[in-house]
Amino acid sequence: MANIKVQNKISKEELSELCLVQHKSMREIAKMFDCNHTTIGDLLKRYGIPSRPPGGARKAQIVQIEHDGQMVEAKRCTVCNEVKPLEDFNVGRKSSGGRQPKCKECRKRHYEDNRTHINNKSMTNYYKNHEENKLKRRLYYSKHKIQLRKQQKEYYLLNHEKNLLANRHYYHTNKDTILQKERLKRMENIEYYREQDRKRYVRRKEQRSIYHQKYYEMNKATIKLNSKKRKTSLKSLPFTLTEQQWDQIQSDFNYGCALSKHHSNLNMEHFIPVSWGHGGTYVGNVYPVHWKINHSKSDTNPFVWIERKDVKELVDMDKWHRLISYLAEHNHLSVDKFRDFVTWCEKTREQ
Ligand SMILES: [Zn+2]
Repeated sequence: MANIKVQNKISKEELSELCLVQHKSMREIAKMFDCNHTTIGDLLKRYGIPSRPPGGARKAQIVQIEHDGQMVEAKRCTVCNEVKPLEDFNVGRKSSGGRQPKCKECRKRHYEDNRTHINNKSMTNYYKNHEENKLKRRLYYSKHKIQLRKQQKEYYLLNHEKNLLANRHYYHTNKDTILQKERLKRMENIEYYREQDRKRYVRRKEQRSIYHQKYYEMNKATIKLNSKKRKTSLKSLPFTLTEQQWDQIQSDFNYGCALSKHHSNLNMEHFIPVSWGHGGTYVGNVYPVHWKINHSKSDTNPFVWIERKDVKELVDMDKWHRLISYLAEHNHLSVDKFRDFVTWCEKTREQ
């Protein structure tokens, strides 16, 4: 019905004037007559007026302008109507100058103004034909497999170095934001990630044991020597800790880790490492910590170790200061004297 009404309103001459002389688009004409642009398309066909290719008649002219003291190619943005250098437009092969008709700024503004709408639309479109598209992609891939793989490989080799550098640079400049985002994502979906971790742990069990075996075989001598060293040092060092004392120490730290909020997987840690040939297993040198912290500290000087960036993420600094006072007190020293003592132990350690 609408077609007949519009047809009565627009004559052939009028339409050809609008279309061929004034170069109006179908949408613009539709707006003038308050109808759908497809109706105008039908009408053009019926009258036998050749329709112009989309965007064809209004391709922006490429001009030369001065920009930063240099002559550069430029064109007019269809939204803000300003003449801007081609650099300020995103790549779009079909448009004039190989750039899109809207400038970057206008595109961005449009996106920001309609963010939810655009996102929703693309989401619904994505899911509407999701299965079908997946199948199509898969078919296409299997059909052109050899060629596609070759292309991928070539592209990869050609841009590998460049991409690696760019990725690394991006990571380093945005490290904090990236880590923050990842942490947030994990917190929000903690159950899902834990499940994934568990699955990965099971999946890689065999691989891991092979790796451990290999590592052991390669470093057999060192590992054996280290364990021997540790055992002999432990033997020659004072060992006065009783079961009741250890229980008392654990209760002093609320039966949890002395440096973090963990309450399971705890190890007995020697503040002055056993391998230094100093310290020993007595009240004032041992305390419970989570295995990760124990593993991280290893045989480094605790006062040097605590300054490391990755350690600061593991350790609660308030708890660290409390622990130092606790140990110093049980060694009958001030905190500063205790630190000096530990430093001396490291200087005179066994090699
Ligand atoms: Zn613009």
